[in-house]
Amino acid sequence: MMHFKRFMGIASVCTALFLSACNGDGDSNSQQAQEKPQLQPIVIQGALPIESERMASKLDSVTVETIGGWTFWKGSYKGYPMIISKTRMGMSNSAAATAIAIQHYQPIAIINQGTSGGHDPDLHVFDIVLGKYTTNIGAFKTPYQPINGGSNSLTWDEAFDVLPEDESDPEPIAIRKFEGDPALLVAAYKAKANYSKGQVVEGTIGSADVWNNELDRINFLHSTYGTSVEEMEAASVAQIAYQFKVPFLGIRVLSNNITNNGAYDPATGEACQDYVLDVAEHYMKAKTETK
Ligand code: SAH
Repeated sequence: MMHFKRFMGIASVCTALFLSACNGDGDSNSQQAQEKPQLQPIVIQGALPIESERMASKLDSVTVETIGGWTFWKGSYKGYPMIISKTRMGMSNSAAATAIAIQHYQPIAIINQGTSGGHDPDLHVFDIVLGKYTTNIGAFKTPYQPINGGSNSLTWDEAFDVLPEDESDPEPIAIRKFEGDPALLVAAYKAKANYSKGQVVEGTIGSADVWNNELDRINFLHSTYGTSVEEMEAASVAQIAYQFKVPFLGIRVLSNNITNNGAYDPATGEACQDYVLDVAEHYMKAKTETK
């Protein structure tokens, strides 16, 4: 049996205060600074144009910054400082975009959002999963098979923990689950009332550089890791945010679900962006009130 390890995605207040004190990159718009206490920006990520450009188009006083292959739109939404980040697809791109964003903008929090494929037959296209947990479903150690022994992914039941506490352990076999930040989850529940296109539920987001279309494999992942949905970025972002102690939440809309014949619908990407802007507004409002 694999055992579970959980990382709390809670950044200390001290870290936030320290970062806000030393940051030189905050929004210098004095009118906004007068209207609301100055907060560090929240970063909202989307992998693809259909998962990021709608949010970027809704920012005020926007400037575009390109660092390496990554685009960041810096501005404000309803008076709150926000960075929209197009990470591009996959685990490496999203990890790099996250590390750059943290170093460059010292964000108060990070939300990774976008489309996903359902693993749970009770969830439907346009439903949204709040990542109570986010986990890497692409790191594992396979059982031994001799030459001509074949390959069966349904026997790959040893998850590989790529962030072990004991770095001398050559075989850290465990499912690593990153826990969504509680304050971001509270904001997500507040925004739920305005989302009418589907349900909003808590669940587990599974990430890997893989698009699974084998129903037996999907069922295996659903029962072994408890995944609600799969996608290609959130666990990688959670892993980097955790190491920088930045609060993190994954939020994923189902754009497809082959477990119940849910056909791919690209309009889900826009619906999720609207919902997540609402989440970010609630989060920043709460942070402003407690500042
Ligand atoms: N079909 C899309 C391309 C999506 S490619 C299009 O034509 O625009 C993969 C991206 O979609 C990744 O960023 C991943 O996070 C997300 N994604 C959506 N559904 C997925 C699924 N079933 N499996 C893996 N990734 C998925």
